[in-house]
Amino acid sequence: MNDSAKSAGHGTGTRLVEAGRRREWTGPVVNPPVWRGSTHLYEDMAALAEGPRRNEDGRFFYGRRGAPTQWALADALTAMEPGAAGTVLYPSGVSAIAGALMTVLRPGDVLLMTDNAYDPSRAMGKGLLADFGVETRFFDPLDTAAFGAAICDRARAVLLEAPGSLTMEVQDVPRLAAIARDRGLVSLIDNTWAGPLGFPALERGVDIAIMSLTKHVGGHSDLMMGSASAGEDFYPKLRKRAQSLGLVVSPDDAALALRGLRTMEVRLQRETQSALAIAGWLAERPEVALVMCPMLPGSPGHDIWRRDFTGGCGLFSFVFRGAGARRRNRFIDALDLFGIGYSWGGFESLAVPVDPAPMRAVTGWPPPGLDESDRHGVRLSIGLEDPADLIADIEQALAAMETP
Ligand SMILES: *Cc1c(COP(=O)(O)O)cnc(C)c1O
Repeated sequence: MNDSAKSAGHGTGTRLVEAGRRREWTGPVVNPPVWRGSTHLYEDMAALAEGPRRNEDGRFFYGRRGAPTQWALADALTAMEPGAAGTVLYPSGVSAIAGALMTVLRPGDVLLMTDNAYDPSRAMGKGLLADFGVETRFFDPLDTAAFGAAICDRARAVLLEAPGSLTMEVQDVPRLAAIARDRGLVSLIDNTWAGPLGFPALERGVDIAIMSLTKHVGGHSDLMMGSASAGEDFYPKLRKRAQSLGLVVSPDDAALALRGLRTMEVRLQRETQSALAIAGWLAERPEVALVMCPMLPGSPGHDIWRRDFTGGCGLFSFVFRGAGARRRNRFIDALDLFGIGYSWGGFESLAVPVDPAPMRAVTGWPPPGLDESDRHGVRLSIGLEDPADLIADIEQALAAMETP
C-alpha cells in the first residue's frame, strides 16, 4: 500500500509517521535513503530525449530537480497540508518567501504586507522587490477595514503572518484571505509559527502557505530549509519559478528534515505545554507589563487564536514594565539555560531581545495600553527542557536584572 492510501482519514500522528514513505522511494528500509547525485543516467538516447519533455514530480532528470529523498520530503509536507496539490522546497525560509513572491508578482504590481511581518520579508519588499519594480505597502495587521481600503488597482498580492514576528498579533486570516480573493489578490502566509498542524492555511482560504522548515520541521537547529505549498492553481507556477531560479535543497538536509518531521507533533505538544506554564507564570510577575502569547487566555489575540488555530508552539514574547534596554539586556545575559541566538523551534530554549519600534511602518510600538517606557521585550523559544528548570532560570535572571 502506498503512503497516501494508508494514511487517508487517519489522525495527525499517524499521518506524520506515514507521510512521504512511498515504497518506491524507501525500498525495504524505513526511511528514504540519501540519494546524492548531480547526474542522473539514462538507459539510451530515446530515454534521454524523453527527459526534458516530461517535467513531472517524481521523475529522474538531473540533480537540480531532486531525487527520492527530496521528493519524499515534499510529498510528506503536501500530505500534512490539507488542500495542497504540491510543495516546493527552498534552501531557506527566506528563499521560500522570495520564490513565492517572485512567482505571483510582476513589475508595476503592489504587494500589501502585514506590518508585523518577519523583518527580512520587510527588507525584501524594500530591496529585492523594489529593484524589480514592485511596490510594497504595509497595513495594520489587526485592521481588516484598513486592509480593504489599501487595495488599489495595482495590488496583486498580500503577505500575511499570524501570529506576527516578535509581537505575536493574531490576524483574522480567514477574513483577510476572503477579502483578498474577492478583490482578485493572491494571498500568501508566512505560516512558520503554527505550521499546518496548528493552522491549516489553505483550508482557511489562503492561496500559498510558506514555512521556514529550519524551525519546527527540522526541530534540531542543524539545517536550513523552506517550503511553499499550494493547490492546483499555484503549485505548478511555484514549481516552475523555483526551477528557473535554479533552487534545490541537498538530499542530506532533506533526510534530516524528514527525521525532524516524524516527531514534530510530540515536540510541539511538549513545547506548547511548557510555554503556557512559563507565559502564565510571567504574566503574574510585577516586572512584566505584557505577555504576548496568543495561546494564553487573557493574552492579546487569544480569542481569534482559539477560533482559528488547532495547535500552538513554544514561541512567545513579553515586555518589561519600565525597564530600559540595559536592564532588559542584563536579564538576557543572566539566563543560563536559554541560548542567545536567532531562529527558534529547536529542542533547546533560546532568548532574543524584542525592540519592534524601528521596524513598524503604519502601526506604533508600544501598542495602546502600554506605557511609553514599557517597550523593551524578550522573545523566548521554549524547548524540551523541564519547564520547572526554565522557570527557575527566568526567576534568577529577573533577580539579576535588578542588580547592576
Ligand atoms: C526564521 C523565519 C523565517 C526565515 O527562515 P530561514 O529558514 O531562517 O530563512 C521566515 N519567517 C519567520 C516567521 C521566521 O521566524
